[in-house]
Amino acid sequence: MSAKQFEIKSYPDMWESLGMDVARFEKARCVLGDAFQTTFLSQENRPQRMDYFNWLISEMHGGRIREILDAKKEGRPVIGTFCVYIPEELVIAAGGICIGLCGGSQGPVPDAEKILPRNICPMVKSAYGFKAAKICPYFQAVDFVYGETTCDAKKKTWEILNREVPTYVMEIPQMKRERDRTLWLEEVKDFKAQIEKGTGKTITADAISDAIKIMNNKRKALQRLNRLQHHIPSPISGKDVLLIEQIAFYDDPVRFTEKVNLLCDELDERVSKGVSVAPASAPRVLVSGTPMAMPNWKAHNLVEKAGGIVVNDESCIGTRYFKDLMDENMTDIESQLKALTDRYMKIDCSCFTPNDERVDQVLKEYRDSGSQGILHYCLQFCHTYNIEAIKIKEACEKNGIPFLAIESDYSPEDIGQMQTRIEAFLEQIKG
Ligand code: SF4
Ligand code: SF4
Repeated sequence: MSAKQFEIKSYPDMWESLGMDVARFEKARCVLGDAFQTTFLSQENRPQRMDYFNWLISEMHGGRIREILDAKKEGRPVIGTFCVYIPEELVIAAGGICIGLCGGSQGPVPDAEKILPRNICPMVKSAYGFKAAKICPYFQAVDFVYGETTCDAKKKTWEILNREVPTYVMEIPQMKRERDRTLWLEEVKDFKAQIEKGTGKTITADAISDAIKIMNNKRKALQRLNRLQHHIPSPISGKDVLLIEQIAFYDDPVRFTEKVNLLCDELDERVSKGVSVAPASAPRVLVSGTPMAMPNWKAHNLVEKAGGIVVNDESCIGTRYFKDLMDENMTDIESQLKALTDRYMKIDCSCFTPNDERVDQVLKEYRDSGSQGILHYCLQFCHTYNIEAIKIKEACEKNGIPFLAIESDYSPEDIGQMQTRIEAFLEQIKG
């Protein structure tokens, strides 16, 4: 697919049938297509098998939505989520489709601000605005959404979102003691019951086993990609990896796994032939912090435009999503649900206290990836990540690791300032 031909495909009749604001969405489609072309297709020497992911972007509001609507016609549930604490395995076990609905675009923020306060996280405003303005086909297609109580902005927004789309909430405790695990397990059971109620079908142990394998395979493919990204020089750009990680929240998991593994085969070859996207001397950056939902490519783009390369992403779009696998050998539902609870409890989101394991994990990923500096990226008004950055900074100081903390939102206004700070940070790494 040449750069000039790229466009996000238009499906006005289907969007109309979903009750969308089609005229407005048409404009957003063109803006997104242009941004994609400038950010991704302008890169030199990209792996050829990125073609699949380009195609998926071109069909993300069309062909993929058609697949989802076809699945609905077969009676398969389609469930929207906003957080990696919601166990996807149970949706897959019900034959369903799980879609990540976190918002990464500035476009719908003003729509949200007509109702929600301005001084909350842009991810929450963007997600809510997509629904309020009816400009997201995924939001229009889901049967219901499942939120969680990880942060105040989210948990109170679910009450308002429930007016637009059926919204259920999983209580995620704030600590990880035995009594919290007990509560969490009950919440996982409630999630399963809600899916069963929505579909009228019982989720069996065999179906959960199959779903665990599907998700393990998907996570293993992402782990493989992550390891390949660590090579010096890296065979793939950090922003392409970010794009793939974002697509993981929309695509069919089995097809996605196959395509990521095919790409990794090509990256293996590139490594053996010494083919890379940046010179070995390019400053290597680990990005850590709040997740970057599609199409938030700001930080990765700025690092790589300034001559650096992102070689690891410690966020819920990145390693926090795929670092932990599940035991595949359980045969009864009670053991499976307990193991699911344990697996999800390992995710080290800053909404927990204490959360020192995240500091250790960031340092581990820094070493494993051969990074030379840590860029802590935090969305504006995300208090937990912002405050936890203090501990990451202290750990960096103790270990002599160059560190930069950036707080940003989705508007383009801070790009100039961010660029200056990132360029200075890369100079610091170069020494
Ligand atoms: S940062 Fe925390 S709240 Fe946000 S998706 Fe990750 S785990 Fe969920
Ligand atoms: S980035 Fe922080 S404030 Fe925003 S939704 Fe996630 S946890 Fe909440």
